Amino acid sequence: MTAPPEAAQVLAPNLARHPVPCPLCGRPEGFRTLFTPWSPCDDPRQLYGAASGLPGTQTLVECPDCSMIFENPRFPDEAILAGYLASEEGGHDSQYPMRVESFYRALVRLKEHLPPPGARVLDIGTAGGAFLDAATRYGYDAHGLEPSRDLTERGKKRGLKIEQGTIADHSLPPGSFDMVCLWDVIEHLTDPKADLERIRPLLKPDGVFLVNFPDIGTTQARLSGKRFWWILSVHLHHFTRRTMADIMQRTGYEPFHFRRYWQTLQFGYLEDMAARLNIPLTAFIARHTPRFIREIPMPYYASQTTALARVKR
Ligand SMILES: [Zn+2]
Repeated sequence: MTAPPEAAQVLAPNLARHPVPCPLCGRPEGFRTLFTPWSPCDDPRQLYGAASGLPGTQTLVECPDCSMIFENPRFPDEAILAGYLASEEGGHDSQYPMRVESFYRALVRLKEHLPPPGARVLDIGTAGGAFLDAATRYGYDAHGLEPSRDLTERGKKRGLKIEQGTIADHSLPPGSFDMVCLWDVIEHLTDPKADLERIRPLLKPDGVFLVNFPDIGTTQARLSGKRFWWILSVHLHHFTRRTMADIMQRTGYEPFHFRRYWQTLQFGYLEDMAARLNIPLTAFIARHTPRFIREIPMPYYASQTTALARVKR
């Protein structure tokens, strides 16, 4: 896939990172530096064009007023969005059935807090539509919103209800959803606060807002330091349970439940990931694992948290 012409124009070589204010409380400066790049890269095409992002390229700071952790300085929004548009998708399609399984299990685990089957649900940034498949199986009337034209077309061909658009630009009717989901999207948004405010009117008065995010407040994150696996060039914001609750409250939601998100992937896929991370002996073991074992579904926890909220009355 080639970059759209507007992307090529925006990704001019003279772009540079600029200081940004705190995305949560608006404090303009005076942040504490947590991590500096250990694998520097100054090319927005590489930083934002790679579907899963690059590790070690960011300076992450923490706001002394609200504890928000975010990339600062950062490339202009237009460069980031152009990079996302130009990004190549695919790669983890082989795990599509496992991702559907992960989402389905998550819905079952969260059951008591979610709208009952039959409810109308929207998934924002639905990508290939794995959540829509899971939600349909759960009994929901599932709708998706996805910026990529390519992914939208692919999902439609598979019979899913997907609209191409963004949080700021879509034709979804307000007040029409019992639940709106943001799975692994909020950390990519250039202005998460503005987008959370835009999402709120889509919900019915009793609707549930679900946000799943990489959680930098976990013990795993603390122990991993700057090598924490979710610190990637495409993740502009890093939330903890505390800052997630804070941004929800500031944008008109009342959070009522937080839970660890357990993903499901095939054992072989996890083996391959471990091998790529150079964990000793894993490459050898992966090569010698029988196929029926590599296909076993494995639940694992990798510092993701699911937050549930309702619109404030
Ligand atoms: Zn702040």
